[in-house]
Amino acid sequence: MPAISIERAERLKRLPPYLFAMIDKMKQEAIAEGKDIISLGIGDPDLPTPGHVIEELAAAARRPENHQYPSYEGLLSFRKGCADWYGWRFGVALDPRTEVLSLIGSKEGIAHISLAFTNPGDYALVPDPAYPVYEIGTYFAGGKPHFMPLKEERGFLPDLGAVPADVAKKARLIFINYPNNPTAACAEAGFYREVVEFARSHDLIVCSDNAYSEMSFDGYQPASFLSVPGAKEVGVEFHSCSKTYNMTGWRIGFAVGNADVLAGLGAIKTNVDSGVFQAVQEAGLRALTADQAGVGEMRRTYQRRRDVMLEGLKELGLRANKPKATFYLWVKCPGGYTSMEFTARLLKTSGVVTTPGVGFGKSGEGYVRMALTVPEPRLREAVARIKKAGF
Ligand SMILES: *Cc1c(COP(=O)(O)O)cnc(C)c1O
Repeated sequence: MPAISIERAERLKRLPPYLFAMIDKMKQEAIAEGKDIISLGIGDPDLPTPGHVIEELAAAARRPENHQYPSYEGLLSFRKGCADWYGWRFGVALDPRTEVLSLIGSKEGIAHISLAFTNPGDYALVPDPAYPVYEIGTYFAGGKPHFMPLKEERGFLPDLGAVPADVAKKARLIFINYPNNPTAACAEAGFYREVVEFARSHDLIVCSDNAYSEMSFDGYQPASFLSVPGAKEVGVEFHSCSKTYNMTGWRIGFAVGNADVLAGLGAIKTNVDSGVFQAVQEAGLRALTADQAGVGEMRRTYQRRRDVMLEGLKELGLRANKPKATFYLWVKCPGGYTSMEFTARLLKTSGVVTTPGVGFGKSGEGYVRMALTVPEPRLREAVARIKKAGF
């Protein structure tokens, strides 16, 4: 029998080359050679989910009423928990019935929102470098990303005034993400006010990704886009239990803000997925409402790692800004290296895995991202090995 042709759709063929697959191959080769790898490559917390959250899941999983399809918008109790959390944390009032939507991790909502609001040919304004999902969600919906370069001299904030008028006119969505992955930059209320003004004058929907709002240091408290006047009229914010509570594997997040935007996203979700396992929602609710001491412990752990690694980088003569939030260091490549070359060099000579900045977009060239997801002794070991190997 003749074989059928397993031809991929254009939307998949058009995807930018997956650099991370190349790094993974190099990493696998190094492991096969028996090298001890220190991976600073992936933004996934190494700390465990808090015990009380696991207990809640176990208890909730035993209740038969949780075994059926959940509602796509989420349990009202979970959405109320999210609204209360936004209230005490950011001073933002939300109606849990219409202004909160549960998500299968915030990535799911970010990937789907373009399907609700982008027609073929429409633009989306996407930061560069960035979490790849903004760009890919735009492609999948038939839209065109317009990249807003994030430059060090502007504190890695986009220059909204530099977006061409005709592009802004045809744009439906703008994505922003502070505290930022991969640059670790933060934004203040002044920037968010500027974004609200920009969205109003160009009639576009703001999608703020605030996954790292709780992963902050030195007493710094990142803001929410929704805490500035008028924000709820123009946009939504994506949030997640993943980074705050070490729950990346659990797949629970939420979107909050403009009710019409959330209804549009919800209309996609009713047709694509059937919501989040209710026991996981109950566990997420527990995480949001229980004593938050563990969050403070998480902050102290990453702050110590940040300081250890910054000190080490200084010894090596490498430069990175001191982040006020996120568990990333955005490290300038030493002279002459592209980010891919520097990544390959660190892996080959020292067994240290980093992520090349160019993997997050063209403007990420010249940097590598280090994720502080290994214990302090391993960070010290990484520095010692790089020092010994030189570059
Ligand atoms: C980790 C991360 C998320 C969270 O993803 P989940 O799907 O909620 O696990 C969202 N945005 C950015 C920029 C991230 O780095």
